[in-house]
Amino acid sequence: MFRAVLIDKDDNGQRVALTTLDEGQLPEGDVTVRIACSTLNYKDALAITGKAPVVRKFPMVPGIDFAGVVERSDHPGFRAGDKVVLNGWGVGEVHWGGLAELARVKGEWLLPLEPAFTMQQAMSIGTAGYTAMLCVMALERHGVRPESGEVLVTGAAGGVGSVAVAVLARLGYEVAAVTGRVEEADYLTRLGARRILPRSEFSEPGKPLAKERWAGAVDVVGGQVLANVCASVKYRGAVAACGLAGGLAFPATVAPFILRGVTLAGIDSVMCPLEERREAWRRLGQHLDPALLGEMTQRIALEDAITVSERLIAGAVRGRVIVPID
Ligand code: NDP
Repeated sequence: MFRAVLIDKDDNGQRVALTTLDEGQLPEGDVTVRIACSTLNYKDALAITGKAPVVRKFPMVPGIDFAGVVERSDHPGFRAGDKVVLNGWGVGEVHWGGLAELARVKGEWLLPLEPAFTMQQAMSIGTAGYTAMLCVMALERHGVRPESGEVLVTGAAGGVGSVAVAVLARLGYEVAAVTGRVEEADYLTRLGARRILPRSEFSEPGKPLAKERWAGAVDVVGGQVLANVCASVKYRGAVAACGLAGGLAFPATVAPFILRGVTLAGIDSVMCPLEERREAWRRLGQHLDPALLGEMTQRIALEDAITVSERLIAGAVRGRVIVPID
């Protein structure tokens, strides 16, 4: 038997509860993992609150990522006792996920734990932090260098934003952090932001082309904020867009793309190829100061995942939430 958060749905709507399940109920897979630490990402909070149709199969154990120890493996790449990490691949959406004591998954979805991190540190990074690194790598691919000028991070006090600020600053970029919570200015400065900008500067409809300010940007917000960010990126700069915390719409014009050669790089962490994942985790080991992870992480118990989800969706959680499993 093992404990798990379980989401179920019927004609009366969605229900979520901490429950006890039998190992025989686990889905198919060639590796069984004893979970040491899970996390609560924005997507998990959407799934648990039912605010967006993240879960596509019921009943579902949510949790799009976890770190743990292999208990049993029929996969040639993993043996009992190996420390592993999982992000994405539809886990927590169509395949039972990480907010549980036990998971059974395909071995091809697993990565060995990056040696620079403990399992809890790897989950302090989690999907949010690994996505932040994918965004940084996309900016680099499009020629944004520390000497290109100031870079912008939106939703900076959230999970993706916090890691993006810390990594970019460590790489030598001058980082401007956009936040709706100016009370988090000291926190963002400790992560490495040089300037803090209020979200209100970006949230109203603006001109198709505004003053050129940013060499590059990491955007987790979407909506009007993303449109305004694109309009103020410098000639041949790039924006890595990974989120929708401010909305799914994109009320922009093509002006920045066709008149300034701006690149809008889409970032998807879920089906990202294995080689790029390995590279992202390797680079996190290299460019993210583990000492900063304590600063950006809060710990909650498995049974609190349901209530904390509401706060996360409301943009009231700072940094990352991890769920150590005893
Ligand atoms: P968090 O909730 O931790 O952070 C989101 C941040 O966005 C908040 O902390 C807040 O930052 C800001 N924000 C929240 N609501 C609004 C709003 N209405 N308007 C403007 N800004 C807002 O989430 P994560 O960092 O984990 O994820 C961020 C986004 O990235 C989500 O949309 C998530 O779905 C997406 N994502 C996408 C992935 C992919 O593969 N493409 C992978 C991981 C995440 P502040 O208070 O500082 O303004």
